[in-house]
Amino acid sequence: MSQPDTTEHSSYHIRTFGCQMNVHDSEHIAGVLESHGYHKATDIDSADVIIFNTCCVRQSAEDRVWGNLGAVRKGGSRVLAVCGCMAQRHGLGIIERSGGVDLVFGMEALGRLGDLIETARSAPVCDLGVVEEAAIDGLPAVRSSRAQAWVPISHGCDNNCSYCVVPRVRGPERSRSEQDVLEEIGRLAADGVLEVILLGQNVNSYGRDLGAAHSFAKLLEKIAQIDGIKRVKFETSHPGDLSDEVLDVMATCPPVCEYLHLPVQSGSDRILSLMNRRYDRDFYMQTAQRARDKVDGLTLTTDIIVGFPTETEEDFLSTLDLVERVGFDAAYMFIYSHRQGTAAASMRGEVSRQVIGGRFARLADLQARLTAASLARVTGERAEVLIEGPSRRGGLVSGRTRGHRVVLMEHPGPSMPLVEVHIDSAGKHSLRGTILREYD
Ligand code: SAH
Ligand code: SF4
Repeated sequence: MSQPDTTEHSSYHIRTFGCQMNVHDSEHIAGVLESHGYHKATDIDSADVIIFNTCCVRQSAEDRVWGNLGAVRKGGSRVLAVCGCMAQRHGLGIIERSGGVDLVFGMEALGRLGDLIETARSAPVCDLGVVEEAAIDGLPAVRSSRAQAWVPISHGCDNNCSYCVVPRVRGPERSRSEQDVLEEIGRLAADGVLEVILLGQNVNSYGRDLGAAHSFAKLLEKIAQIDGIKRVKFETSHPGDLSDEVLDVMATCPPVCEYLHLPVQSGSDRILSLMNRRYDRDFYMQTAQRARDKVDGLTLTTDIIVGFPTETEEDFLSTLDLVERVGFDAAYMFIYSHRQGTAAASMRGEVSRQVIGGRFARLADLQARLTAASLARVTGERAEVLIEGPSRRGGLVSGRTRGHRVVLMEHPGPSMPLVEVHIDSAGKHSLRGTILREYD
């Protein structure tokens, strides 16, 4: 007997993998689909169109997508689509390898998605668009939060870190025009958004392609003046491009939050040079100190890669030493992943899995201690928290401080999302707090 068709026609389900930029791109995918009359399906099994917005920064991210694609039930006129970084990287190869994928599209082709889906119902299609189109920001979006919004200020990356596939899949850096960014944030503010998080692979180089009159510091200052915007955060900063002007704006413009994500990647000069990061450990430590000196109460977070080709015990000890000295408030730690087509992929000196595993555990232990100390430091204080939504722990809501620390609280009821909170206690990764009052 054949299975009953439970597909809700014109419904969609999006699964997002990877970074914040992908999460935001998915808001545009939903916006475009809804403008074509689609509605969000109750679950993946009932969706007429299933879209996987993918990541390929590490092999593990790709493996997760291949595994999840294989598990999708096909049937009827259901369309299974793949977009995002794996689409850019493998193109048609995804349709050939997966067997079940009907459509592969690039973000630059998002404006055509409605037509592409109809075509894919009869035969597989691949349309990656042209990187220079950069039209995505002007397309409709369904925002997941009422009070907070992500706003890309640039796309792509002009750096050439030897391990990284991002410039290959996201293209060269293209800054959005200042007017576009300011107008978008003005509209968001009018719509009730209180916090914007500016996105770019390297926000600090914003405007380099727009001319000498433009810089990230100038943009940040203008954004901070937009009526209704209470908090501005940004990710990600490249240590080589973090100017004093940006730190001054952070220190002097109240809406700009005391939060800096400044990936270090390694504490060894030799590895940093092989990574082509354009700075050494002394420069990084001075930059971190400069940021802390200028910006009171700064939360400083980082990314670290363990097991880059040829990494020795001595190199790794330099990383541990830097992490301890800088005392990061939090860190994202990654095991080096071999990415074909990158400069590091042809480097010899692979570090064994066993050695990497041991190093990763030692680094994670150290960072756990530093994170716990950082959270303990703010316990007993009052903090401004923007409530983001229900937490995974039953009955509580989750929000973030200006320093981007997660706070769990009792539900405040239907009210303003920006609250003053007493920090009661610290867990391993988050804080517990009690709401004292709402801000007007
Ligand atoms: N543009 C940002 C984000 C890049 S991707 C930046 O420069 O910080 C996010 C993080 O993934 C990087 O900071 C790096 O730590 C990690 N990463 C990138 N490529 C990797 C690889 N091949 N193996 C392991 N980690 C990687
Ligand atoms: Fe990748 Fe380096 Fe660009 Fe970040 S700055 S996206 S790590 S190439």
